[in-house]
Amino acid sequence: MNLSKEECLKFVKENDVRFIRLQFTDIYGRMKNIAITDKQLANAFQNGVMFDGSAVAGFSGIESSDMFLFPDPSTFSIIPWRPQQGKVARIICDIKNHDGSQFEGDPRYILKRTIKKAQDLGYTFQVGPECEFFMFYNDDEGQPTTITHDSASYCDLAPIDLGENTRREICMVLEEMGFEIETSHHETAAGQHEIDFRYTDALTAADSIMTFKMVVKIIAQRNGLHATFMPKPLPGVNGSGMHINMSLTKNGKNLFSGGQTQSDISDTAKQFAAGLLNHIKGITAIANPLINSYKRLQPGYEAPVHIAWSHMNRSPLLRVPAPRGEGTRLELRSPDPSCNPYFTLALLLEAGLDGLNRNLSLPDPVNVNIYTLTAEQEENLKLERLPSNLLFALEEMKKDPLIQSTLGSHAFNKYLAAKVLEWEDYDNSVHAWEIEKYLKAY
Ligand code: GLN
Ligand code: MG
Ligand code: MG
Ligand code: MG
Repeated sequence: MNLSKEECLKFVKENDVRFIRLQFTDIYGRMKNIAITDKQLANAFQNGVMFDGSAVAGFSGIESSDMFLFPDPSTFSIIPWRPQQGKVARIICDIKNHDGSQFEGDPRYILKRTIKKAQDLGYTFQVGPECEFFMFYNDDEGQPTTITHDSASYCDLAPIDLGENTRREICMVLEEMGFEIETSHHETAAGQHEIDFRYTDALTAADSIMTFKMVVKIIAQRNGLHATFMPKPLPGVNGSGMHINMSLTKNGKNLFSGGQTQSDISDTAKQFAAGLLNHIKGITAIANPLINSYKRLQPGYEAPVHIAWSHMNRSPLLRVPAPRGEGTRLELRSPDPSCNPYFTLALLLEAGLDGLNRNLSLPDPVNVNIYTLTAEQEENLKLERLPSNLLFALEEMKKDPLIQSTLGSHAFNKYLAAKVLEWEDYDNSVHAWEIEKYLKAY
């Protein structure tokens, strides 16, 4: 609703708002919240609301655990599915240390810092995410299964698409919360959906992705379904990605538009794209944060494997969709919806700015279906691949100094340590696949 503090307090008073959920995001991209009553809101704006930072993964240690949430009134919105008498609202918060200093590991702050850097150069980073997810049945105990609730495919209609009603309800709730939904459709796999919202500045986009995931999960649950943003819940079918469409504007003009020919893009767009390709290996551990993320990045499922770009081809990492003029944009196809959107957008912007700063040049586009290339063709085209698992991705993250300088050492070190543990845990486990393959055979 884009309110100021005063407008927020007035709205709460005049509209029977009783509870306010103060939301923030941990380093793994999971939303957290603390509820306060309407009476405490003015004080929260003034002095912040204390919470135990040591209980939030990747935040503070036990020694300096008191941290403070400062609500950002511009993110105020009513939660439409809660009672309308004694309403519930939410506000997204910034995080400070007990001495009033900025908490360095706050994902929202990390994105804001990069946005500020771009702003000082006159740039606004515009982002349009395309978020995919699955909806599954719950079992009799209410636990999620991997049984899809429909057998529809890309853009199918009801009655095959039983999820259509749920998806429509999700879109309606999002609109009530101020989202502009561009399109929504059934995706390729059974039980898979996509909802795309309108281009906005990067901070709004990251806040919106977090809100979106919360809304999808809750509305699915209210319809007896389990929604998941796990990147590859089912083998043998497409996984869920979160394509990121992006452009830079200056004084309201899209800097990616233009170039030599009608179909061309500007030099700025090319340098930005070159920056993305240059840093994508290091970014992958953030944009594809789970062990499972790498099960999605396999040939044949419309997800990228190679570091390449093209105009229309949907097999490479980076694509330039057809629209030109003000609609000119780059579409990065590797991120998945389990990532921390604040970290991911900060890194994409830094990588693009680095491309501009160093005048990086873009290699030739790859206009063939990359999935069907032979090893020899791949070699001739000098195609590199994205890291193929989380461990390799973490190695790449350590090698690229841009990742640490963007995230700051607090978030970088906490994230890295936690992800190494996650990998070791996976590596030390004996998986169902191994039992099935080896128990009888050996
Ligand atoms: N689901 C695919 C992915 O994993 C994308 C499919 C599409 O939007 N064309 O990225
Ligand atoms: Mg799409
Ligand atoms: Mg899609
Ligand atoms: Mg797309």
